[in-house]
Amino acid sequence: MLLLALTLQIHAQDLAHYKHVVKTLSSAKYQGRGYAKGGANKAGKFLQKEYLKAGVDEVTLQPFTIDINTFCGKMEMRADGRKLQAGVDFSMREYSPGVHGEFPVYHVDTLNFDADRMYADLQKPEYANALVCCDFWFSYKHKKDFARLQKAGDCSNAGLLQTWASPIKFFKAYGEKVVDKPIIWVTPEAIQGVKRVRVDVDNQFLKGYELFNVIAKVSGERHDSCYVFTAHYDHMGNLGKKIFYAGANDNASGTAAIVTLAAYYAKHCPPYDMYFLSFSGEDANLRGSEFFAEHPVVPLEQIKYLFNIDMIGDNNPVQYCEVSDEGMRGYKLFEQINGEKRYFKALNRGDLAANSDHYPFATRHVPCIFLENEEGDAFKYYHTIYDDWQHAVFDSYEPVFRLVTDFVERY
Ligand SMILES: [Zn+2]
Repeated sequence: MLLLALTLQIHAQDLAHYKHVVKTLSSAKYQGRGYAKGGANKAGKFLQKEYLKAGVDEVTLQPFTIDINTFCGKMEMRADGRKLQAGVDFSMREYSPGVHGEFPVYHVDTLNFDADRMYADLQKPEYANALVCCDFWFSYKHKKDFARLQKAGDCSNAGLLQTWASPIKFFKAYGEKVVDKPIIWVTPEAIQGVKRVRVDVDNQFLKGYELFNVIAKVSGERHDSCYVFTAHYDHMGNLGKKIFYAGANDNASGTAAIVTLAAYYAKHCPPYDMYFLSFSGEDANLRGSEFFAEHPVVPLEQIKYLFNIDMIGDNNPVQYCEVSDEGMRGYKLFEQINGEKRYFKALNRGDLAANSDHYPFATRHVPCIFLENEEGDAFKYYHTIYDDWQHAVFDSYEPVFRLVTDFVERY
């Protein structure tokens, strides 16, 4: 009996299956699961098949639309004639328009900053139609002084170059609008001392672009309440024709985790109905989960507990969580289980934020927890081109799997 129990436990979470799903979703076929080139939607179709293979009772697709700015065409930049590499030396702010042409670079004097002098300098003929280059955090701190540089007509500059330490990020993909002037992220090393740049970047603003959530269900012994597992499967997609953001940690890791949880519950009849929600549009401002929360397939009051798993492809022994007010009773149980079993060295609970798909549920009073393993080896690659299969880390999968399945048994 003991041997049987041990064997069952070892096979409960299936690392090989998990890795297979992470690797597939991070591959070039899905182009970073973005909102152009059909990447996200192709990934959704793959997940639909994976859920069916896992043996769930039903899978439905829930379509919704978004307006989104994308970069799938030309993505070229030269600094004083030197070719820069997209995704490594530079990338685009998500809501930037495209940009074509050659421009002088005006480097903001951040050591002796004087806004009036900057605007006076930009009137000089040598800086006509310049791209204004400044450290991102500096311009953020001086928002008011920099605001005029971003509006058409307010200043004659062509746009902004914002420096960000390598590895360069693409941040969110939530360009629900396009601003007047281009904003380009660039590393300090790539732009230091540069006098002129040539930029050739295409953007495409997609209006009413259709995405879908994938909803899988495993029927349990009781149908009056349910548990819900959520993970977003979309990511940031493309930066030009060749570069894509694979998003192995963000969030192929969570997506794969809930697929293996679906397979587990399909084999071991759960006490209540189980829903597995693979959301799209998360990196476009939580659009898929917002849509679901507005159009739930099961009344939100019937959710006993919701687990949002986003970025567990890391190895921090301390597990980060956020918990809704209604989820605090459950959080005590999480702490108790973790204390007994030592899955993680500790759980670290932070303040609720609109940073992932639990948020639309937390604000609607659903008991829920957000599980994200951050600040480990993989975290530095967050929203960079290096968050890929080669840099994938798997340590947190098993402890998260055990923590949530133990919870369902005991809550
Ligand atoms: Zn994410």
